[in-house]
Amino acid sequence: METKETKFIFVTGGVLSSLGKGICASSVGRLLKSRGYSIIIQKLDPYINIDPGTMNPFQHGEVFVTEDGGETDLDLGHYERFIDENLSKYNNFTSGKIYKNVIDNERKGEYLGSTVQVIPHVTDEIKKSIKKTLENKKVDIVITEIGGTVGDIESLPFLEAIRQFKKDIGRENVLYIHVTYIPFLKTSEELKTKPTQHSVKELRSIGIQPDIIICRSEIKLTDESKDKISLFCDVEKEAIIDAIDVKHIYEVPKMLQKEGLDSIAMYKLNLKYKPSNMENWNKLVKVINNLEGKVRIGIIGKYINLKDAYKSIIEALNHGGYFFKKNIEIKWINSEVLNLDNYENILMDIDGILVPGGFGVRGIDGKINAVRYARENKVPYLGICLGMQCAVIEFAINVLGLKDANSSEFNSKTKNPVIGLMIEQKGINEKGGTMRLGRYPCRLKKGSLAYKAYRKNMVYERHRHRYEFNNKYKQIMEDAGLKITGLYPEKKLAEIIEIENHPWFVAVQFHPEFKSRPDRTHPLFKDFIHAAIRRSQSVK
Ligand code: GLN
Repeated sequence: METKETKFIFVTGGVLSSLGKGICASSVGRLLKSRGYSIIIQKLDPYINIDPGTMNPFQHGEVFVTEDGGETDLDLGHYERFIDENLSKYNNFTSGKIYKNVIDNERKGEYLGSTVQVIPHVTDEIKKSIKKTLENKKVDIVITEIGGTVGDIESLPFLEAIRQFKKDIGRENVLYIHVTYIPFLKTSEELKTKPTQHSVKELRSIGIQPDIIICRSEIKLTDESKDKISLFCDVEKEAIIDAIDVKHIYEVPKMLQKEGLDSIAMYKLNLKYKPSNMENWNKLVKVINNLEGKVRIGIIGKYINLKDAYKSIIEALNHGGYFFKKNIEIKWINSEVLNLDNYENILMDIDGILVPGGFGVRGIDGKINAVRYARENKVPYLGICLGMQCAVIEFAINVLGLKDANSSEFNSKTKNPVIGLMIEQKGINEKGGTMRLGRYPCRLKKGSLAYKAYRKNMVYERHRHRYEFNNKYKQIMEDAGLKITGLYPEKKLAEIIEIENHPWFVAVQFHPEFKSRPDRTHPLFKDFIHAAIRRSQSVK
């Protein structure tokens, strides 16, 4: 763990949550990477769960899966998409994980008889986890975002640890960025700086003096309000960064750069000046701002009121839109209401159908109905994880005539478990971290739609599931037109299926959405959107 040559940036949040702290951290990363510095971003979450893997998406949004199988916070998805680096499970620690390590160490007797306390034992463990990001990599800058808002009881040990960090490695190696909110009162037409003053006061009472304050606001900050924040928070006026609402998240780095954020960060961290190369990013933003026409994609899921549950899928679809310079219009369809009487009406005007991942039996029939509609009406279909399992079940029921075909996840007694548990998974009772997780190889079949998309023999994709295609049904399925076109060679597990005589029907057991980048659309999303565009043009 070499920290001598590494600089550390800590991003905290004030006033309220959902300010886009993750996007700010990601943007700082993008801007500094564009200046030639190597970057890694990490999130420290104050909750007690060991990881978000066991949390309901309603509470926490999507679980983002890393290459090494970490089940992490959705902000890691933003980090990867903005800085274009694969992160690992060490890039997300929770209080639960930190405390577990401390308690495990205590049981092993590693504290040599001392009383184990928040300071120094928990804070030391937090500092260790920050440095862990450097274990396999040497980077110039580690950016660590602290989840939650200053003032939360749970965040205290994290804030104390990052306070100590400066003392440990030297003032010039640490930068504190505080992201706050400046409300605009419409009635009096005033920007209010008081909540920010309070939040910084709280931070200072813990011993952290912010170096930069990023102010989220609806309208541009006035000179007067910047002066006020500067005076009360003891931060130079140039380091008060205005972050007004923009049209889309990929505009944020540019906006922050205009405010001088990366120059100030470099200056304060005593980093050698390097010119910025944001050319490609700016090109991307230009494309996004000039999209024409639209493609309608239907997403059939349980969490349609909480878009965060499908964050990476939405992003990957948008990336596909950027590639073809088209807007993606998502129609959210509640799987619990979709039935054979209404599915025609609901799905009629859609150019592509996507059934995403999910757990549990609720809404399964609706998803199977959506698959049936896509298959019979030749609507482009992309099935992801559960979306592939539903495609297999639908085919078994409606094409093979196996009326009770199901996944053993939904009916453990079915005579036709076309989706079932692998032997390795049988008998596992613990829920956390026990699925098939992370990166696995997949060999593609030449001539398939998947092969056409990737143009490679072997691809590597990220998984998060317990159930698998049951190879007992491989032959009859293939004979009837459902082909396995991607295989995990070592265990002969079906990773991709396609249905013949259909313009584009591809379903995958993995999660391609995690690997899509704004300027490098994932090949499957690219071809799915392409097929949807073709359909939209032929239907008109
Ligand atoms: N519930 C299914 C399984 O565990 C699918 C999981 C998913 O879609 N991520 O296999």
